[in-house]
Amino acid sequence: MKVLKLSAQGLPQSWISLEQAVLHYAADEVRWEAGGQVALFRGGHNARTGEQSQIRVNSIIGTRGVPSINPFDLRPGLTNSKLFARDRNVCAYCGGHFHESELTREHVVTACRACNHRKSHRTPEQARMPLLFTPYVPSLWEDFILRNRRILADQMEFLMAHVPKTSRLLM
Ligand SMILES: [Zn+2]
Repeated sequence: MKVLKLSAQGLPQSWISLEQAVLHYAADEVRWEAGGQVALFRGGHNARTGEQSQIRVNSIIGTRGVPSINPFDLRPGLTNSKLFARDRNVCAYCGGHFHESELTREHVVTACRACNHRKSHRTPEQARMPLLFTPYVPSLWEDFILRNRRILADQMEFLMAHVPKTSRLLM
């Protein structure tokens, strides 16, 4: 379970652990929250009032401080597993659905081993193997969806609201 950390302006920064999130709360760095409460931490007792301190952690937090990621000068790295997740394990040539172990990367699209072998080093035109969908580099928002395989429903909803309408994640 990860907390989605955003800048105070609402741009995604990283997926952080509950413990890291608590540190932001304790340092009074959380500017706003979204999503639902995902954890309740109990701290020490106040010496004067005897009350126990509590920190409620939400699934999405906006923190103050200098953002470490500027989406406008960032091109998210596209690892094979992110590429396959983006393409939903579907081969861009035959449209077949495959297990990750049977997939290969063909430039910026997913291809099954058979199609990749058949196409070889030719262009899709030369090989007469038109692409079934257009390759693209995922946006920062999509990248945050692709990097975490255990996204909570409210986090997914939050990220999806920013995903371009052309994204294949919406299909
Ligand atoms: Zn194929």
